[in-house]
Amino acid sequence: MHETNFSLFPFPSIREGQREFMEDVRDSVEGERILIAHAPTGIGKTVAVLVPSLQYALENEKTVFFLTSKRSQHKIAIDTLKLIKQHATLNFVAVDITSKQSMCPRATPIYREYYSLFNEFCKSEQRNKRCRYFLGHDEEALQRITNELLHVEELCRWCTSRGVCPYKAALEVAESADVVVCDYNYLFSPDIAEKVLEKIEPGLEDLIVIIDEAHNLPDRIRNNLSDELRMSTVTSAARGLRYIDREMHGNLMELEQIFAKFAMRAREKKSAEIPVERDVLLEEMEKVLRRRIEVMSYDEFVNALQSIAEGFESSPYKEETEAVQRNILSVADFLDGWRTRERCLRIFSLTQRERGENPTLYFKLLDPSVISEPLFQRVHSTIMMSGTLCPTEMYADVLGATPDRIRGKEIVMKEYKSPFPKENRLIVVTKALTTKYTQRGEEMYRRVAGKISEVAQHVKGGMAVFFPSYELLKEIAAYLPEEVRRRTLVERRELSKEEKNRLYELLRDDNEGILLAVQGGSFSEGMDYESNVLKAIIVVGLPLSPPTLDVKTIESYYAGKYGAEKGRLYGYLYPAITKVLQAAGRGIRSEHDRCIIVLMDYRFAQFPYKKCLPSDYEVTLTDRAEEFCKAFFK
Ligand code: SF4
Repeated sequence: MHETNFSLFPFPSIREGQREFMEDVRDSVEGERILIAHAPTGIGKTVAVLVPSLQYALENEKTVFFLTSKRSQHKIAIDTLKLIKQHATLNFVAVDITSKQSMCPRATPIYREYYSLFNEFCKSEQRNKRCRYFLGHDEEALQRITNELLHVEELCRWCTSRGVCPYKAALEVAESADVVVCDYNYLFSPDIAEKVLEKIEPGLEDLIVIIDEAHNLPDRIRNNLSDELRMSTVTSAARGLRYIDREMHGNLMELEQIFAKFAMRAREKKSAEIPVERDVLLEEMEKVLRRRIEVMSYDEFVNALQSIAEGFESSPYKEETEAVQRNILSVADFLDGWRTRERCLRIFSLTQRERGENPTLYFKLLDPSVISEPLFQRVHSTIMMSGTLCPTEMYADVLGATPDRIRGKEIVMKEYKSPFPKENRLIVVTKALTTKYTQRGEEMYRRVAGKISEVAQHVKGGMAVFFPSYELLKEIAAYLPEEVRRRTLVERRELSKEEKNRLYELLRDDNEGILLAVQGGSFSEGMDYESNVLKAIIVVGLPLSPPTLDVKTIESYYAGKYGAEKGRLYGYLYPAITKVLQAAGRGIRSEHDRCIIVLMDYRFAQFPYKKCLPSDYEVTLTDRAEEFCKAFFK
């Protein structure tokens, strides 16, 4: 290890833990390594990762690819780069890009929802020279994007006002930029990555890849290659085509029959879910398509559905037919995705997940490492970082960043300590309370609600209670006493983004508010809380998935790969613990914040759950959580 003064660092001093992280990042980019960093909130990760990476990139003609899954992180990255630029009076080019359809000034809501439809529209507009933004070229527009560090919203507004396509302009600048801030998909969604990487100058070998909030990466890769189709959608799509295209109406009715057959099989097996092989659906569909008047293959059927959906765009009755168009697109996209040869779990379920009766067929990529591992192998270096990347070993295994799979690259796993004063955070685990399935019931709900209310009496400031599901939230909230209920702000499944923001503002502005929300939801993961908004967080129970076929399949897949213990940890326990840690981490955002965390389930103090908590989680088991709370706020 050698001394570096990190001259690009734009603040007066480097925080505790931050220097260690910066040195590790520097060593990783210099040594072409993979760094997997569990770095708690407060370390100042964004600046700490950007300074050494940018410094190395500028000196060695590399490009920093800063990948993030959240819009808010784009803003933080660009703001940090602005600070670096001002501080170092340095000339470098950085560009902020989101998805093509979100940057397009011509995208309608349906285009934002269905990428396939948008992509066809965009391609055809380009091909037929009908998009004036695509045809527009403006040196001044490009100059500004190159010289100034613009947030993607500013970039889009600017380009649109100059009559040029924002996406095309951003890619042109990205071609030779030093830093590109973009979504995970630009590297980890093969279709998108291929198109983008062919446009930019540096090859994969010249990229320094930074993956922000990297705990989201395995699920994001899986979700990119996943889809579900409800039988009701097939029925509605068929009905919508009855008077438009009799032949395709008939084909969709046949697909509905295939669903009915799967449902019969599941009922015969007395099982709510059954696995379905890839080829079974393909062959069943081919068989019926061969018997139709207009014989066609599965692929032709998918293409025909897509063409019909595209045709709706020029229909004079577009608005009335949008629902039909959506249903047809959902069927076409699903059948298109189903063809993938990647190993997926493929399940037919009589009930749609969490939403009651509605036969549904779905598929999901089983192993995200099939996408990530070859990329880690090829890029110059990779830094994965998050406040909940714990245990780092699991992320290494799940994403394929292990020495037996990556040749010639060192892999470094590190857990950094929180720089915040220890006494600002108190963690207690309550005795006797649980959401364990066998102990659920009125009596338990009443006791949990009682304990929430006792704790709430002593909290001085805002508070959040995170439940494992909406159902449990409702069941338990019903037992909260009136004086507590009056203070509650409740997250509901159907809230729009605007309504959620409004709810957050109410919580922020009310010194006594109690947010009731779910673990794994927007309030426990996506939302960026300002400092001091939450003084207490109660995490009720563990959000363990029910033993569904997909959970069992993932568990047994990892058990086969890494042994039974890891199978259970990776497939079942850690996904739940990650949600808990995300929720529990909403309280402390700066060194001045103080927060009490009450883990309301005795299992947090028991094996194996306790072992899954980070090493700096010092928990106290008690049946007097309210007393701890009282003392904490004294
Ligand atoms: S070329 Fe650009 S502006 Fe035109 S449709 Fe495509 S993304 Fe939109």
